[in-house]
Amino acid sequence: MTRRAIELLLLVLLGALWGLVKSSSGLTVVGALGGAVVWSLWDGLRARQVLRWLNKADVTRTPNLSGAWGEVIERCRKLVKKLEKKAQNSDARLEDFLAAIQASPNGVMLLDAAGRIEWSNLTAANHLGFDPQRDLGQYVRNIVRSPTFAAYLASGDFGHEIQVDGVGPRPSQPSKISLQIHPYGKKRKLMLSRDITAVQLAEAMRRDFVANVSHEIRTPLTVLSGFVETMQSIPLEEADRSRYLEMMSQQAQRMQTLVSDLLTLSRLEGSPVPGTSDWIDGEELIGHVLQESMGLSQAIAKPPHDIRRLPGPALLVSGAKSELLSAMSNLLSNAVRYTPGGGKIETGWRLRQDGWGEYFVRDTGPGIAAEHIPRLTERFYRVDRSRSRETGGTGLGLAIVKHVAQRHGGRIDVTSVVGEGSEFVIALPPSRIRDRVID
Ligand code: ADP
Repeated sequence: MTRRAIELLLLVLLGALWGLVKSSSGLTVVGALGGAVVWSLWDGLRARQVLRWLNKADVTRTPNLSGAWGEVIERCRKLVKKLEKKAQNSDARLEDFLAAIQASPNGVMLLDAAGRIEWSNLTAANHLGFDPQRDLGQYVRNIVRSPTFAAYLASGDFGHEIQVDGVGPRPSQPSKISLQIHPYGKKRKLMLSRDITAVQLAEAMRRDFVANVSHEIRTPLTVLSGFVETMQSIPLEEADRSRYLEMMSQQAQRMQTLVSDLLTLSRLEGSPVPGTSDWIDGEELIGHVLQESMGLSQAIAKPPHDIRRLPGPALLVSGAKSELLSAMSNLLSNAVRYTPGGGKIETGWRLRQDGWGEYFVRDTGPGIAAEHIPRLTERFYRVDRSRSRETGGTGLGLAIVKHVAQRHGGRIDVTSVVGEGSEFVIALPPSRIRDRVID
């Protein structure tokens, strides 16, 4: 301020001096006024320079002014820089925020008061099949073309979610998308979407499973209670009585097998994957299941089957012994149960070139048509329902085998020719197979 006053004073003095030199008192005053006018013009020019710079607010090119104007510029420059930094921080935070919403497994859309898409993450676009860039500004009702959604949007009651068809792997197989709107701000809306296809599938499977189990238990239970009623109401001969009791025991046994298979399955699903530290002799495993299946064949087939163990490599297998025995025994007992008496059944271990070990069971039974093969390991799926029941099948055997194989990092393979026979294989990865001789 002082500097400006000195400048003004100097110019006024210079003007007055000029007047004095011209030696007239009138001119002295005019000169002083002239000096003040010159200073005002000069100051005005500097103010204009500052205003021009402020309009651009470019901190890299500041006008070179000294004094009060220089001070004003320096302060403004600092302020602009501070605001620029603040804006940069806000931008970065907004970017982070949007990146986080992009990464969300749920779809997020922002709608304006008129219901147009203002912003959307990629997940929502994938769920509902639109382009998150190109379709910005589109009315959401034109994107989600479902009457349920149109009614939901029009009702204004967003307290619940709704389900609409989304984009699926095929047009005939749309995904199931759950949508819910959350109003915010001035009539704006946040719309969240969730892919619930897998949840719905799991729910449908659970319902089917409960229905199947109930059905499987109800059948022997009905037979059992029928016999009980008969025995209570009619006096029976000793021979009839023991025949009835035998049939009742069969039904009870059937229920017991079913419950035991269900428990096995639930144990397999709930327990940790077997470790790789326990090594079991492959021959020993075969020895167990072979004995069991020969006993079964003697009991149910006339004549019994020709069951053979084929020579193979001496292997050690790592995993849970009880699980492996249960899986191998299921395959062998299926071969016995489905192959007519006198048929040939071969079993053994073999080693593939790529190091995988395979336990196989081959039979000369009825074989299985190709369309059934992919579904054999589904719970309660049976090709021949009556044969399965007759021989005490639960429809869970191959589901157990598949679980055991998968828990050991392997899989179950089935090849079959109708009228000739089938081969069931449990294939285990090299990490679970070791040569017994080398060891
Ligand atoms: P189940 O208790 O009915 O035998 P599984 O899960 O063990 O149930 O087998 C599923 C179905 O696969 C059986 O019902 C049967 O129709 C068919 N199957 C299994 N093994 C054989 C086989 N060796 N030969 C022919 N069909 C078989």
